[in-house]
Amino acid sequence: MSDSNEAFSERLFPTLTAGQVDRLATYGTRRAMRRGETLMEPGDDHPRSFVIVRGSAALLRVAGVEETIVQVIHAGQFSGEVNLLMGRAAFVRVRADDDGEIIVLDRDQVLRVLQLEAEISQIVMRAFILRRAELIARGYGDAVLIGSTHCAGTLRLREFLTRNGHPFVYIDLDTQEDVQALFDSLGITPADVPVVLSHGKVVLRNPSNEAVADSLGFNATVDLDAIRDVVIVGAGPAGLAAAVYAASEGLDALVIEPAAAGGQAVSSSRIENYLGFPNGITGQELAARAFAQAEKFGADFLIAKQAAKLRCERRPYTVDIEGGRSIAARTVIIASGATYRKPEIQRLTDFEGSGVYYGATAMEAQLCAGEEVVIIGGGNSAGQAAVFLATTCRHVYVLVRADGLADSMSRYLIRRLEGNPRISVLAQTELVAVEGNGHLEHVTWRNGKAGAEERRGIRHVFIMAGALPATDWLHGCVEADDNGFLKTGGDLKPDDLAERHWPLGRSPHSLETTLPGVFAVGDVRSGSMKRVASAVGEGSAAVALVHRVLREEGLSEPSSIASSSRPIFASRP
Ligand SMILES: Cc1cc2nc3c(=O)[nH]c(=O)nc-3n(C[C@H](O)[C@H](O)[C@H](O)COP(=O)(O)OP(=O)(O)OC[C@H]3O[C@@H](n4cnc5c(N)ncnc54)[C@H](O)[C@@H]3O)c2cc1C
Repeated sequence: MSDSNEAFSERLFPTLTAGQVDRLATYGTRRAMRRGETLMEPGDDHPRSFVIVRGSAALLRVAGVEETIVQVIHAGQFSGEVNLLMGRAAFVRVRADDDGEIIVLDRDQVLRVLQLEAEISQIVMRAFILRRAELIARGYGDAVLIGSTHCAGTLRLREFLTRNGHPFVYIDLDTQEDVQALFDSLGITPADVPVVLSHGKVVLRNPSNEAVADSLGFNATVDLDAIRDVVIVGAGPAGLAAAVYAASEGLDALVIEPAAAGGQAVSSSRIENYLGFPNGITGQELAARAFAQAEKFGADFLIAKQAAKLRCERRPYTVDIEGGRSIAARTVIIASGATYRKPEIQRLTDFEGSGVYYGATAMEAQLCAGEEVVIIGGGNSAGQAAVFLATTCRHVYVLVRADGLADSMSRYLIRRLEGNPRISVLAQTELVAVEGNGHLEHVTWRNGKAGAEERRGIRHVFIMAGALPATDWLHGCVEADDNGFLKTGGDLKPDDLAERHWPLGRSPHSLETTLPGVFAVGDVRSGSMKRVASAVGEGSAAVALVHRVLREEGLSEPSSIASSSRPIFASRP
């Protein structure tokens, strides 16, 4: 084995010192193991970590009756990976190779170790995350997806499993030999595609994301009956930050997310303006790290479940989940974000972050200095972006579907656009195609009146067609601005409070909505910055306010601290 392979293997399967093993013994159960004894089976929904004190054990991948050795672990080494933190079923069989001794740690015990033993926590977390990356790279998991790249359902499920960091094997019917034999062996037909084979036995035919999540046990250990200190709706940057801070400060936090952790940020191929990442970080990586961090502190996640309704008539509040079940919450953090309106143009999303942008800040202005750019939209944000970009760009084309700007843009902005020789407003014109290899290189627009198409070598398009807040599920429980974004704190005028019957002697806290103890953070909030950093800042700040509300209401003892079964964490304000 080369030095670098050896170093990687040591990080993947590190050996703890005798002192560290002794520390772990104080959290788990020490017991003997017998040669040949099966310690855990794949699909076991109470996954455990085994720390070898004496002897060795094999981690085995099981496919039908076949076993493949993934790794043999010896004294000082331990089993387990990210699934254990999530409380999801085990992927591998663990079998004792020798008579020996082990320490068995269940999920709660592992979480306690991670929170209270800083030195061991670093080694274990790194190993768990690296193991998950290896499982994904090798396609070792408990799911097989059978589909075709030409099938929308297959693409949806691939995206869902990938974004959730769940290892799976993909069988592509377009390249697979003897497809009929595969169909016959599983008792499926082409009409069933995409098919997911879960735990090697359950066959799901064209399943929803939710059905796959349920079958793979994504939410199996989440207690739906508990009254939560805080329910966080949405696991974008704002919701993830709220989850990390809430769980690390001892609150019993549950996050509800219909897709996967990361929100819009996952569409960003490189976030370069987030503090601490001078070379940028992909949205997917930032989300995966934040998700693991929230899991480590003990936050619960309901994945592939959507908040369908907030019941706000009485406390505790209740969040109804689509398809049934409700969760009771002392406080709620609304972090359900927004979606940008996008023109329906093929390949547009391929260039998001590399030629297609939804905001025009100094960073984007620098990227297109001296070049021609296109702005889509006729509202004030499009007008402001045009004036701003014209200071650095060679020429700005503003494409508007309507006859002009009069109905959608403020008069003063229209005058500025008209008076600027670097700006052209093209009315009745829409973008119809984008092309490029890696980065956007050409755009084509069409004038509806003349019917003429024009293709130009333009490398930067700004979509300023507005954003829609994800607030349908609130059914008007809280006050919103004219565009549907939620008003909070100082933005709430006495009239807003009177109309909503604000019941308290105090004014709403800074991120609080017109419902006491219900906060709005990130892109869903009126006046928010629509940036990752601001969403993260608001999500974390809201947790301090949750503590304040719980104290005000005499509920200052969060339920996780009162309950002995949940881990106890570091300091609380
Ligand atoms: C292509 C692209 C590139 C970007 N690049 C950058 C960048 O480089 N730098 C930067 O600072 N910002 C960037 N942004 C903006 C940034 O991603 C957002 O400002 C940020 O993600 C907002 O975070 P959020 O958590 O408030 O909302 P979101 O990211 O929108 O997350 C909201 C979450 O709530 C979930 N949700 C919605 N409805 C419900 C419901 N009913 N129940 C439960 N959950 C629900 C959604 O599935 C989603 O996961 C980019 C945005 C895009 C689209």
